[in-house]
Amino acid sequence: MEEDEEGFQYPAVDDDICISCMKCKETCAFQNGYTRRKYYKKSLAYAVKHKSEEVRANSRSGGMFTALSDYVLKRGGTVYGAGYGEHFAVMHKRATTKEERDVFRGSKYVQSTMGDVFKEVMQDLEDGRRVLFSGTVCQAAALRRYLGKYYRMLFIVDTVCHGTPSPMIWQDFLKLKEEEYGGEVTHVDFRNKRTHGWKAHFESVTIHGTEHSSRVYTKMFYLNAMLRPSCYNCKYTRKRRPGDITLADFWGHEDAVPGFHEDDKGISLVLVNTIRGKDLFKVCAKDVNYIDCTGYKFRHVNLRRPSRPPENREEFWNDYREHGFMYIATKYGGYNQERQDVDEANNAFMAYKAKITKWLKKHIKRIFSSTPPAK
Ligand SMILES: Cc1cc2nc3c(=O)[nH]c(=O)nc-3n(C[C@H](O)[C@H](O)[C@H](O)COP(=O)(O)OP(=O)(O)OC[C@H]3O[C@@H](n4cnc5c(N)ncnc54)[C@H](O)[C@@H]3O)c2cc1C
Repeated sequence: MEEDEEGFQYPAVDDDICISCMKCKETCAFQNGYTRRKYYKKSLAYAVKHKSEEVRANSRSGGMFTALSDYVLKRGGTVYGAGYGEHFAVMHKRATTKEERDVFRGSKYVQSTMGDVFKEVMQDLEDGRRVLFSGTVCQAAALRRYLGKYYRMLFIVDTVCHGTPSPMIWQDFLKLKEEEYGGEVTHVDFRNKRTHGWKAHFESVTIHGTEHSSRVYTKMFYLNAMLRPSCYNCKYTRKRRPGDITLADFWGHEDAVPGFHEDDKGISLVLVNTIRGKDLFKVCAKDVNYIDCTGYKFRHVNLRRPSRPPENREEFWNDYREHGFMYIATKYGGYNQERQDVDEANNAFMAYKAKITKWLKKHIKRIFSSTPPAK
């Protein structure tokens, strides 16, 4: 794999040893799509909250991933997911214990490096182990293509995906924070829901034992300029999924399952796409509270189409090349070194404001729903 100037990795063919068998093109998930097997015409859908408060607090949404992976680990299987390498570089890893698996919890909004994980998955399956692989939807499709045949012991879990930002920008962001607070980052959270709630989006880094939240990386993420170019043409941003199960944040839960998620601690949307997925969901259901919402029209944009590139994508990368990360963090992420402390006070205020707004909305809705309609 070779890194390009935006910090994304691409496969490179070594012409000296290539025998032109075209296997690489045949296998590539971006050339050929994935192999389907026993898919439902329409996915079954559930709103899910894990019964354990601890699991929900440490997961991005409602903690469904933990319920699914617990089942596989308890039966001596292996779980693959996005963890951390050196300096919080995001990479896929293999876990055989709950401790190793717990690192996979939480969404990391950056492209995860695969390394030799697909080979390891195949080896585990050939050795007769149960395997659960979790990743973005294109990674799930890529694994299906790579394996090329059906394995009875394999469960694939994909996530609804907005797109994956550049690992290079993520590293620059961490370095900026380290310079700002004069120490090493010891913990990161791409979307800190413990402090700010499930709906809010603040990234946090811990330095010298203190957690610092900001929205600089978040703002640049939503601008879409630092996503991998292939994300703009992603052919997997649709309802037909490569995974046996699809996980997402349940945006729109207020209308789909009213009253089910009042505490802002996280709720998963779980799509069950295959018979295997249904079997897995069934055996894990005892660990979660859930409501069937099959047939509901979900509002997730990335279940319909890819995220769009912004008009200023080229300008963003030109600015980065010419002036460096601090410049783009200021211009596109609203970074202001002198204002950081104020920003942190603002963050606390925003979290408080979100709570009040939620309370008001709930009560206004109740007052109006109890008023008889005008004739
Ligand atoms: C890059 C990215 C973009 C997303 N965009 C959306 C979106 O637009 N809308 C939406 O509703 N949901 C989105 N999600 C999915 C959502 O954030 C949660 O991952 C999902 O709801 C699972 O929640 P959970 O509580 O069950 O899992 P958790 O216990 O929090 O587990 C997180 C799971 O995501 C996997 N994961 C985390 N980071 C990465 C990564 N960088 N690459 C590959 N896999 C990863 C882990 O392996 C693990 O399986 C996105 C996730 C990612 C990683």
